[in-house]
Amino acid sequence: MSNTPLVFAGMKALIVGVANERSLAWAIAQELHKGGAELGFTYLGEALERRVRPLAEGVNSPLIEPCNVSDDTQIEALFSKIQKTWGKLDILIHSVAFANREDLEGRFITTSRQGFSNAMDISAYSLVALARHSEPLMQNGGSIVTLSYYGAEKVVPNYNVMGVAKAALEACTRYLAWDMGPKKIRVNAISAGPVKTLAAAGIRDFRSMLASAQEKTPLKETIEAEDVGALAAFLCGPGAKHITGSTMYVDSGAHIMS
Ligand code: NAD
Repeated sequence: MSNTPLVFAGMKALIVGVANERSLAWAIAQELHKGGAELGFTYLGEALERRVRPLAEGVNSPLIEPCNVSDDTQIEALFSKIQKTWGKLDILIHSVAFANREDLEGRFITTSRQGFSNAMDISAYSLVALARHSEPLMQNGGSIVTLSYYGAEKVVPNYNVMGVAKAALEACTRYLAWDMGPKKIRVNAISAGPVKTLAAAGIRDFRSMLASAQEKTPLKETIEAEDVGALAAFLCGPGAKHITGSTMYVDSGAHIMS
């Protein structure tokens, strides 16, 4: 029998960003499930539905819906389904990012207008859109958590336009925290160290990011998706009731290094 206290009993959590069992969103979902939350999932397209559906069914999810975050019609359909199924929402996990592959290598200066706006739309604006739709459902307060990376603050070669999008995402986190604070809805970002996932595979030379995390961080080890899950669960839980607008690091201390 588990000793984990059911801190999320009775709560409804929407998880946006599971692609497969390696996704950081899936690690977060598992922690919230352990805490007693009921989970809803979205997937991007039919190919990923085949991966997401069995995972979601494994945690008895009553809500498994398509959602391309760059499509307002799909976002509206998703939230009307949440309204019908749950009538409320307590937790939103935003774990979504995208940039064209050619914009994740070489010189940042070559980023096209379309590549720039696509990365910003999917990786940063989507948080604003999902938060806006969540707000009326979070009548008893709530918690929103998004995923960022150190490339938002400092230059990480090849991270390029995604670093700019993550900087915008962290700023969106702060402005949303201010907007939603009076409704007791908290908005925080997790800045995670590198973890080998589908999205990470799109970054050129990701292996050297992992190697440097191992060699150059104070703790001399890379993080696991489970570490992100644990921090997200903390941020959604009662221990973080006065934490909002923050970016918290789970990176073996990488961010303190010069
Ligand atoms: P992942 O590939 O498992 O997850 C990325 C998700 O984004 C996928 O589920 C994908 O379907 C979704 N997505 C992309 N475009 C979308 C769209 N238009 N509409 C809806 N969903 C869309 O990889 P991950 O590493 O788990 O990434 C999750 C988040 O964590 C991302 O924001 C990523 O930048 C961030 N992050 C990852 C790392 C890492 O090293 N893996 C480190 C720090 C931050």
